Amino acid sequence: MIEKVLIANRGEIALRVLRACKELGIKTVAVHSTADADAMHVLLADESVCIGPPPARDSYLNISQIVAACEITGADAIHPGYGFLSENAKFAEILEAHNITFIGPTAAHIRTMGDKIEAKKTAKALGIPVVPGSKGAVTEDAEAVKIAHEIGFPVIIKASAGGGGRGMKIARTAEELPIALSTARSEAGAAFGDDAVYIEKYLEKPRHIEVQVLGDGAGNAIHLGERDCSLQRRHQKVWEEASSPALDDKARDKIGTIVANACAKLGYRGAGTIEFLYEDGEFYFIEMNTRLQVEHPITEAITGIDLVHEQLRIASGEGLSVRQEDVRFSGHAIECRINAEDPVNFTPSPGLITHFHTPGGLGIRVDSGVYSGYRIPPYYDSLIGKLIVHGRTRQECMMRLRRALDEFVVDGVRTTLPLFQRLIENEDIIEGNYNIHWLENFLAQVPKKEA
Ligand code: ADP
Repeated sequence: MIEKVLIANRGEIALRVLRACKELGIKTVAVHSTADADAMHVLLADESVCIGPPPARDSYLNISQIVAACEITGADAIHPGYGFLSENAKFAEILEAHNITFIGPTAAHIRTMGDKIEAKKTAKALGIPVVPGSKGAVTEDAEAVKIAHEIGFPVIIKASAGGGGRGMKIARTAEELPIALSTARSEAGAAFGDDAVYIEKYLEKPRHIEVQVLGDGAGNAIHLGERDCSLQRRHQKVWEEASSPALDDKARDKIGTIVANACAKLGYRGAGTIEFLYEDGEFYFIEMNTRLQVEHPITEAITGIDLVHEQLRIASGEGLSVRQEDVRFSGHAIECRINAEDPVNFTPSPGLITHFHTPGGLGIRVDSGVYSGYRIPPYYDSLIGKLIVHGRTRQECMMRLRRALDEFVVDGVRTTLPLFQRLIENEDIIEGNYNIHWLENFLAQVPKKEA
């Protein structure tokens, strides 16, 4: 049994984890940088430890300080949230060596899935459909040209160590290929310290659809349906939906079963997400995230299953609380990520929140770590909250979302709330008719001044 959890994160996700721990009677330890001494997760935790100065590398990424905080407080487990150390295999290994439970998968699985070439090979071997492309890293131009002709142009060159949408280059013709390869290699080398790149078919108009899984680490795994995260800006998700407007029950069941079986075979432990591009009725694996995701609440809304409770159960060795046949999908959910950013040019807008009022009522959930009088520090990402809306149908969900957006007040800083107010009136969004390029195209049409 886990008795005390140290939450190695900040912001809304630290609070999210804290809430689940409280519900289960587990004690909590918050860690924070000097910039976060008055953050909500620090105020609400049973104990807190300052682990360093504001820059994340000195605090939220500082493994020795975090392990020391565990030892001082007697925490027996760490929940890493998302980002920071959540997909750091070394961190998981260090915790194991210190007899601290890492609430997540094994270090070996984190490592495999963190390397895109290895991840793709593993996915393919487990029966997951992948994007056609090279078998591994490509080193020779001639080999690249041959593969590109086999799979057909356009192709995309991706860094094996890539992340955050960086290190990708598209080549539309054989002539463009050598230069795309060499720039991708040098960018990957500079950004990730590893210049291995691989090639795959470039899909022109896919949707981003991901499947949520839970595994007990002992060969049992279930899926909790999919999320459609196609509305992205610079590869950052902005709006997510569960279920996807593009899938029917049969397609959901089919891909979900493939993913659950793969994770069972892998012996996967904890919560994970398998991300796909989806085009013309086909799924293509792009990556697996071996952690809780920002958009997990929409899955919670349509299944009624608390994903952090499940993570804590699994880490305690109690296994999953539900079997696949007991999972019921109910209604539709949408999440809007509210960032402290200018809604038109997306420059960060940190500073004092003079007034913060969140919407309420049936089907509304707001996950946020901010409050009236809180000063958003300039050091971290700009997500200040998530509005999650649930309805019996997509239409009801959209009605409720429109009303909730009207009620939401954040004064003192600029936020992306006005963007959602525009999106919700758009015909394509109302119809659920969009792909991964839709939002960038929409934003390109908007005049670059305050709306
Ligand atoms: P990262 O880990 O850097 O986020 P991903 O492999 O998840 O990289 O890809 C990020 C994004 O890049 C995808 O969401 C998609 O928009 C685009 N992308 C990746 N692979 C392809 C592909 N084969 N065809 C078209 N777009 C792609």
